[in-house]
Amino acid sequence: MHKIGIDLGGTKIEGVLVDEKYNTVQRKRIETHQENGYDSIVKSITSLVDELQSTSKWASHIGICTPGVIDVNSGLIKNSNTQCLIGMPLKNDIEQALDHKIMMENDANCFALAESVLGSAKEYDVVFGVIMGTGVGGGIVINGTIHKGKTSIAGEWGHHTLRPSGNECYCGKQGCVETYISGPALERHWLELTGKKEQLQSIVQDLTGEKVEQWKKEFLENFGSGLANVIDILDPDIIILGGGVSNISFLYDEGKKAVYDKVFSDSIETPILKNSLGDSAGVFGACLLNNKDN
Ligand SMILES: [Zn+2]
Repeated sequence: MHKIGIDLGGTKIEGVLVDEKYNTVQRKRIETHQENGYDSIVKSITSLVDELQSTSKWASHIGICTPGVIDVNSGLIKNSNTQCLIGMPLKNDIEQALDHKIMMENDANCFALAESVLGSAKEYDVVFGVIMGTGVGGGIVINGTIHKGKTSIAGEWGHHTLRPSGNECYCGKQGCVETYISGPALERHWLELTGKKEQLQSIVQDLTGEKVEQWKKEFLENFGSGLANVIDILDPDIIILGGGVSNISFLYDEGKKAVYDKVFSDSIETPILKNSLGDSAGVFGACLLNNKDN
């Protein structure tokens, strides 16, 4: 049986049709056009599904990966950086438009699921998938099933308090992990230190010099504390990094050491690896969603 997975992002909507072995049969990417509003996003998703569906009359599974969290009681989207989705019953509206049940899950959980079944964490039972991009999030997968938690916030380490009187966060608290190690936070701190507005990729190209050493030291300190706290509670078999910040290579040696130094154990061996599915984790995670997760 073929499956359809859709990844709804802030700038693009990607869809895949896969066979039962998760080989891609068809793939299509369209622009999100947030500026046209909520209804236009619903319409774009449904026409993308229709187009993929027309290739295969057997695709009865439709999964959607969304930014933000789906409120466990109301079914409405909250905390989404695609702002026109906030407060909207996206799952319900797409189901009505398609006249078909769908499965929907947030992007960090889809990422963790895809990596644990098809990606870098294939051989491991308890997987913590980390997204470090525009924001910082995470998902927990245990034996191939997403662990959502009682209130669907399991894995949301981006809003752990790292410094009680620290940076202001959009969530209303201060000192959240996200305000230190998301891409924009790292670029903002570089600007504070040097007066230079630079993109992350260009900052890490040359890591010599007093300022960049200070920037890197603080980054490692925050990354280390943030993930060590996760390990102390969950003690996963593996941690997989995703999102734009995961392309920084020193996270896999010096970063890992910074984490190990802060964990409550002197014999830690938890692998911290880069994702292997890249941008495709969202669509494959959406294909892998099953009824137990929804
Ligand atoms: Zn926060």
